[in-house]
Amino acid sequence: MIRRIADEILLHSKAYENLHDLAKNVGQRLSASPGFYKAEQWGLRLLQNSGADKAWLQECMIPHWVRGGKDQAIVNISSKKKELDVLALGNSLRTGTNGVSANVIEVASFEDLEKKKDSIKGKIVFYNYKFNSTFINVFQAYGDAVRYRGAGASQAAKYGASAVIVRSMTASTDNNPHTGALRYDTTFPQIPAVAIGLKDADWLDSVLRQKKATVSLKTNGHFLADTVGHNVIGELAGTEFPGEYITVGGHLDSWDPGEGAQDDGAGVVHTIEVLRAYKAMGYQPKHTIRFVLFANEENGLRGGAKYAEEAKTKNEKHIFAIESDGGGFGVQAIEIGGTIAQKLKLRSWLPLFKPYGVYDMPDGGGGTDIEPLKKIGAVVSELDPNSQRYFDHHHSPIDIFEAVNKRELELGAISMAAIVYLVDKYGL
Ligand SMILES: [Zn+2]
Repeated sequence: MIRRIADEILLHSKAYENLHDLAKNVGQRLSASPGFYKAEQWGLRLLQNSGADKAWLQECMIPHWVRGGKDQAIVNISSKKKELDVLALGNSLRTGTNGVSANVIEVASFEDLEKKKDSIKGKIVFYNYKFNSTFINVFQAYGDAVRYRGAGASQAAKYGASAVIVRSMTASTDNNPHTGALRYDTTFPQIPAVAIGLKDADWLDSVLRQKKATVSLKTNGHFLADTVGHNVIGELAGTEFPGEYITVGGHLDSWDPGEGAQDDGAGVVHTIEVLRAYKAMGYQPKHTIRFVLFANEENGLRGGAKYAEEAKTKNEKHIFAIESDGGGFGVQAIEIGGTIAQKLKLRSWLPLFKPYGVYDMPDGGGGTDIEPLKKIGAVVSELDPNSQRYFDHHHSPIDIFEAVNKRELELGAISMAAIVYLVDKYGL
């Protein structure tokens, strides 16, 4: 059966052309932006056309952050000026029309910030914390570095900083800035924050070693009122256990600089491809399978929370969920949760995945959108594609369709369809 699934996908997949359509004709789709609503309609139509028994929009309130214009940063050293390529971090508040101009102080880490806390007041803090290259799984380096993006602004504001510049969460060799969500601690002033690419970060570091520099920052980010958005859901009804659910998903929203192809267009088209392949093969699941394109993963997680909340309210029995949110690269592992017995059962299937490049099923959580389903008893799981190039693109202007390879993308859909098939057929 898994061989048949693989052949169906490798010969007839629509994942790559669907990704092209999403990336080029919908494009960036940050929560509550016009692109996001266009994506909702795109997803609904595609789930219907791919053979869902029914498809619908599930309403949820979503935050509405807008970038509001081009972000700017100009470094002034002695009498020279240099413009940096910057992107305000998501959820960052604007500098105001006059911008913020101040001396820059570089810190290597939060520990370093602590040491320099008496010299922070009024300055722009430059977090130059590097991706740890020694982690083989690059998601570990991301997890380690991302706290500077998430909490750096508030930590610096605690000591009176006027703004922050954060080295991008990447080990890439280009100069693209990578945005992503920051979270303000509202006990401190909400100061503006921007990301810079690695070349600019290294250059600024070399300058600051020799002399003082000021930076003039201008950003325009702000919030409009929360508004209505939707998870987009398709369903194949179960033939034996229609009241028991398996969820397959990715997130529909994306950051605004690129096309959201790797993050998470790949997961969106994986999800739809599993449905298309089952229908094309005439597979009728025993359990009800939901194909969910989640809203607002990037800057709020409201879609995932809403999906689990409604499942709980309706007393739905969710047995398993899997998310694809690690890009469209070849899958090397599938992270699994559940009890020891459930993990043993899942791992007993590992030999069936090896021909398709999946060699491990390590312990792990689900993607962030399905994590809340754990509270109502679902076993959650996540695709682990090869991560080496993912953070070259992630949240940057080069997260575009061209970054995704057709066969690698299809291998992800095969793994997802295969594990969902096994769970549906043999249970957990
Ligand atoms: Zn994502």
